[in-house]
Amino acid sequence: MGEPVTGEVFLIGAGPGDIELITLKAVRVLKQADVILLDNLVNRDILNYVREGVTVIQVGKRGGKASCSQEEINTLLVQHAKSGKTVARVKGGDPFVFGRGGEEMEALAAEGIKVTVIPGITSGTAVPGALQIPLTHRHLAQSVVFVTGSTREGGKEPNWAALASSESTIVIYMGLTHIGTIAEKLIAGGLRDDTPSAAVQNGTLPQEVALLGPLTELVKDVELHHLESPTIFIIGEVVKTSPLWTRRRELIKKESS
Ligand code: SAH
Repeated sequence: MGEPVTGEVFLIGAGPGDIELITLKAVRVLKQADVILLDNLVNRDILNYVREGVTVIQVGKRGGKASCSQEEINTLLVQHAKSGKTVARVKGGDPFVFGRGGEEMEALAAEGIKVTVIPGITSGTAVPGALQIPLTHRHLAQSVVFVTGSTREGGKEPNWAALASSESTIVIYMGLTHIGTIAEKLIAGGLRDDTPSAAVQNGTLPQEVALLGPLTELVKDVELHHLESPTIFIIGEVVKTSPLWTRRRELIKKESS
């Protein structure tokens, strides 16, 4: 018996939630995979596209608590690939937008394992799209910024004051816990406190819930209605162009939007 042939890893973006927002390429690769490593945010319906008898490993975080550390995930990826398997590492949205895809790619490259990235539709574009909020608009926003609201695990704090004066549309991932302080920092940096804003929980899914309103009011409404993870924030003049802006300060459920 010779050396086992090394397998390969596909870093796959599954899209924001709605199962139809996955790419054809992702579905094709899922059908070939021997081992699937799934993040928590990934719609479980993707399992309809995998072969029978594949190994499915859940590695996501639950309630903010990692069920598997990043090192453990890296090790799993390396081990399965080295045993000759085709590994599908599936993440919510896009693997390279706040998805730790970069870290996994580096760990695999260090072991000489082939990696292919299959981009996905990130929640930062899909969710505003579903709410008919254009991220850029010729007259209202010339740029858009994707920023993390969580600086846990030693991450660097974003420069909120600089973002406040950038006149960009600001899309905040993982911002739920700190949205109050984030809003204060943006306002201290010069952003108007009535800047049109939106918070969307479970965007693109049947359980989608949205709140729109002036920034300061939105922060209060998010607490009042106990929004939960995953929630994304969109802050900027573009928010008021959505047809849903007429329903600002109302809890908007998917079936009624
Ligand atoms: N790689 C993912 C982001 C992972 S970080 C992507 O590209 O979308 C996790 C954060 O993404 C959540 O805290 C939330 O802010 C956002 N998010 C992901 N899916 C979402 C959804 N369906 N609705 C609202 N926010 C979502």
